[in-house]
Amino acid sequence: MPAPTHAKVAIIGSGPAGLTAAIYAARANLAPLVFAGHMYGGQLMLTTEVENYPGFPEGILGPDLMEQFRVQAERFGSVIHNLDVIAVDFGARPFVLTTDEQTYTADSVIVATGASARWLDVPGEARLRGRGVSTCATCDGAFFREKRIVVVGGGDSAMEEALFLTRFGSRVTVIHRRDSLRASKIMVERALGHPKIDFVWNSVVVEVVGADATSALRLRNQVTGEESLFATDALFIAIGHDPNTAIFRDQLALDAAGYIVSADGVRTSVEGVFVAGDVFDVRYKQAITAAGSGCRAAMDVEKYLEEMETPHATALA
Ligand code: NAP
Repeated sequence: MPAPTHAKVAIIGSGPAGLTAAIYAARANLAPLVFAGHMYGGQLMLTTEVENYPGFPEGILGPDLMEQFRVQAERFGSVIHNLDVIAVDFGARPFVLTTDEQTYTADSVIVATGASARWLDVPGEARLRGRGVSTCATCDGAFFREKRIVVVGGGDSAMEEALFLTRFGSRVTVIHRRDSLRASKIMVERALGHPKIDFVWNSVVVEVVGADATSALRLRNQVTGEESLFATDALFIAIGHDPNTAIFRDQLALDAAGYIVSADGVRTSVEGVFVAGDVFDVRYKQAITAAGSGCRAAMDVEKYLEEMETPHATALA
């Protein structure tokens, strides 16, 4: 039997938001179709130890956590395709979702496409990407054993990456554009107290230098305006994320930063299209808050589909 190409609910994304939505929708017998993307699992696939997800007092590795989400979603009948949705038509009924393999239709959609790492956008960065420049310490850290490593950023991601990279680097330097960190207290204490980590404050990277591989960074001091060269073999960029909303630009209302605008919880500007996770969360961006909004989106979808199937139920009651 060919795989179904129509679903009552399609879920785009497979991080904590998408897969929680899948668990709830599947348990409501909606047999959700999940478009997990070629790189399924979301940002937790790029992280190491997750210590603040309730239920795992000893912590759990990000990829292991996402594997458990996936198994749980499949157990109740979610159909998961490792396909990227490359276009949507939310003006059509049913909604149309195009992947690079085929086209699908759905009565309702949950958008849970998450966010992607930001780049510095400075000379040398793109050219030396994969040659010392990276946004993923867990992916690339092991290439820099006993090498000099720089992490840029002052948030939790930067501290986490710096701490992780101490396993490999001979020295890890955090370069931050201000003189105070935005990361949580516990992460700041760990990083400041680590013997292998040092800090360069009030400085930004203005150029990545190197012929075939990264050899130095040109820094500008934000206070004095002075520029200097800082020798390093690797640059890990951890300066936050941008929402993955390119395919929704003409389809859904977005705010100035590209986040999906929601109303009444997890509803988008199109009736029948719901949202969950980092793609609309400008503030919290935690695995647990993403999972929570995935649950809400699935429950709202269930209600929406019920009302769609029995449009006169309210009038007759
Ligand atoms: P974030 O909190 O937004 O921090 C981004 C950092 O990068 C800030 O320090 C910012 O500087 C700096 N930055 C931004 N643009 C820059 C640029 N163009 N050049 C230089 N520096 C730049 O992002 P995040 O660290 O990815 O964290 C996102 C969310 O996930 C947060 O809510 C965080 O708590 C959460 N998170 C939690 C954990 C954990 O609990 N272990 C781990 C990772 C992430 P300013 O400070 O000057 O703005």
